[in-house]
Amino acid sequence: MITLRPLPFFNERKLPINALVLHSMAHDAAEGIAQLEELQLSAHYVVDYDGRIFQCVSEDKRAWHAGVSFWRGETDLNSCSIGIEICHRSLGQSKFNRAQIAALIELCRDIIKRRHISPTMIVGHSDIAPERKPDPGKDFPWRELAAENIGIWYGSRFSAETDVVKMLSEIGYNTGSDLSVRASAYAFCRRFLPKKVVKLPVKKLVEHPFPDDCDKLLTDIEFINTLQNIHYQYLVYGKTGL
Ligand SMILES: [Zn+2]
Repeated sequence: MITLRPLPFFNERKLPINALVLHSMAHDAAEGIAQLEELQLSAHYVVDYDGRIFQCVSEDKRAWHAGVSFWRGETDLNSCSIGIEICHRSLGQSKFNRAQIAALIELCRDIIKRRHISPTMIVGHSDIAPERKPDPGKDFPWRELAAENIGIWYGSRFSAETDVVKMLSEIGYNTGSDLSVRASAYAFCRRFLPKKVVKLPVKKLVEHPFPDDCDKLLTDIEFINTLQNIHYQYLVYGKTGL
């Protein structure tokens, strides 16, 4: 059951819906919706700690959750996506509640089925805004979601590509500047290789979501192997046109 908690912060979409953006916020749903209201922001859905779901904006409207963003060349992610906020006290830096993830999976499956969203277009806020945002966080259960076809996870095959920047770009990340390459590499780890991501106080995380020395990732063999694996999964989806 979904409870309506309308927020007035939306406008008309300029693009058809083809993406799902997952967020986390360091508040429960009531506090989180109050904060969205204060900041004049919104999301389509908010999933509370216990799995209760609130809808703030109608899916056919453009909610204001992604901000300055980039994925696969698109920069108006608000226009082409549905945004879901997931309540989590440490911004995705510790285990998520079972009931909450079960409710989220059910919600995502319903949206994906109705809107025909490809696994390659299911992203975290940190994937589309790696220089600004850490959410949904390093402990978000992407693998569990991918088992339900909600997003991409590892397979048994690897891309033969060795150019790190090219792979990040072909997956979807912004690689337009040295800074965005470093931030995107760290965002990739937050999603696919969380042991390379350090746990930080929420306040610090919100101010600056990647460390200064994260360029060392670009030559890390485990990072490159993981990137080659995930790159392959994206290539497969690209070829099949899903
Ligand atoms: Zn977010």
